[in-house]
Amino acid sequence: MRCPYCGNLDDKVVDSRLAEEGRSIRRRRECLGCRRRYTTFERAEEVPLLVRKRSGREEPFDRAKLIAGIRQATKNRPVAQSEIDALAEQVEEAMRASSLRPVPSSEIGIEVLERLRHLDEVAYLRFASVYKDFQELTDFERELGLLQKRSPPKEEAP
Ligand SMILES: [Zn+2]
Repeated sequence: MRCPYCGNLDDKVVDSRLAEEGRSIRRRRECLGCRRRYTTFERAEEVPLLVRKRSGREEPFDRAKLIAGIRQATKNRPVAQSEIDALAEQVEEAMRASSLRPVPSSEIGIEVLERLRHLDEVAYLRFASVYKDFQELTDFERELGLLQKRSPPKEEAP
């Protein structure tokens, strides 16, 4: 591994452990040239998860984009970044486990809504209202109907 500080190719691994719930191995390496330490991650090459947008366009699943969308919906809400990351991970896992290929983006939206509902009601409603912009209105209304049946939404404090 080329040292990111000095470019030396000789290093030794000083620590090695599982990361990302066992999906990667994190290694601390020490450069034998400059003695500085850096980290590398080893992961299995992932099979890309293709998503079909409503426009019909297909693109690889983008977890960062999903996290950004959820973070937007949870802004100023008592939801921790770790909860957002976990939610995105669960959604991705559910999509990988599903037999739909490519995965319709609507499935991802519904999966997020389903989980967000249990996490924070305001975030759920925000995500649903953004989601409405690019999904069939009937889906949104159905989701909203489900929520209202389960628990009436509270007004967000100004
Ligand atoms: Zn070095």
